[in-house]
Amino acid sequence: MPENAVFVHHAGEIRYKFNESHPFNPKRLTLAIDLLRRMGALNDAQIAVPEPATDEQLLRIHRADYVRIVRALSVPEPAQADLDDAGRYGLDTEDTPCFPGMHDAAALIVGGSLLAAELVMSGKAGHAYHMAGGLHHALPGRGSGFCIYNDAAAAIAHIRKHWGARVMYIDTDVHHGDGVQWMFYSDPDIMTYSIHETGKYLFPGTGFVHERGEGEGYGRSVNMPVEPYTEDESWLECFRDTVRRAAESFRPDVIVSQHGCDAHAYDPLSHIHCSMSIYAEMPAVIHELAHQYADGRWIAVGGGGYDIWRVVPRAWSLVWLEMTDHPAAAATRKGGDGGRLPEDWIRAWQAESPVALPGTWLDDAESWTPIPRRDAIAEANRRTKELAVQFL
Ligand SMILES: [Zn+2]
Repeated sequence: MPENAVFVHHAGEIRYKFNESHPFNPKRLTLAIDLLRRMGALNDAQIAVPEPATDEQLLRIHRADYVRIVRALSVPEPAQADLDDAGRYGLDTEDTPCFPGMHDAAALIVGGSLLAAELVMSGKAGHAYHMAGGLHHALPGRGSGFCIYNDAAAAIAHIRKHWGARVMYIDTDVHHGDGVQWMFYSDPDIMTYSIHETGKYLFPGTGFVHERGEGEGYGRSVNMPVEPYTEDESWLECFRDTVRRAAESFRPDVIVSQHGCDAHAYDPLSHIHCSMSIYAEMPAVIHELAHQYADGRWIAVGGGGYDIWRVVPRAWSLVWLEMTDHPAAAATRKGGDGGRLPEDWIRAWQAESPVALPGTWLDDAESWTPIPRRDAIAEANRRTKELAVQFL
């Protein structure tokens, strides 16, 4: 099995943008890729450029009437009848409004995750990373939570159809990976695992421990919901224990992981209080599981992340640094500040950033105001953790 890693990227992916005031901002891709380039951790020879997904590939996971309406709403001035229909497909909300070029941009993102899956399954790459992917909320016939087409589900469906491999999907976004879970809820050859803030308080309102799959897929859906204001130690204890247990019971042929980084304390859309430490640690755990169970086969995609200056560039770079065994990734797990970011990256972007850019890979979380009820939160998470894996 080759150890090389491929970075899947197309410049056109930044056209996946709803509007100027929307929190989903593709600038985060530019910032993260520039950070990797300035530290010499990403070069052109490592990059593979995807093509848009075909209709056949989209229709494997989405309904034909949905793909039709997405296309129809992608033109600068959609027909009134289609605009009237947008609501039925979840495409008229503040979260997921239609925009010109929507179909092409979303299909290109699906194409990126398909290419990442193909490179790994064919053995051309040991690991592959598609940072623009991870649109895990999209449903067969409905856009949802900033997601038009579900690239992660498309990659999994592609692996099943062409390679017949058993897939473990690991979702570390602060929001439940609902779209992927529901699409494969009764499939015994796909395990979906998600750690997230409990749906009691956060979109999409699902991801409870009792969602375990149905029919032949019973036991193949694993959910680890955590309490609001959970911090690093408790998050990582829950993640490590449950994801290892799930992998051990399922023994996947390949891992597809989603790396939304919106559980950070700075993120404006959630109530979890973690620091950059979890984004150094989680990719390392997944990397280890890929080698332990799946002969190294690992496909990673991005996801949510709405502090685009302080959180996303570091968190998403750390996935690639881990995947390529870069020394900077190992340095973040020795404690302390994890080492300096390249000074020229900070100089290049500070003027444009509304906040002070971080100077180091990890945060000084020790200096943050302690969360009241820390022990009670950790104890509640521990009880949920036992329930999450009790039938595995
Ligand atoms: Zn999210």
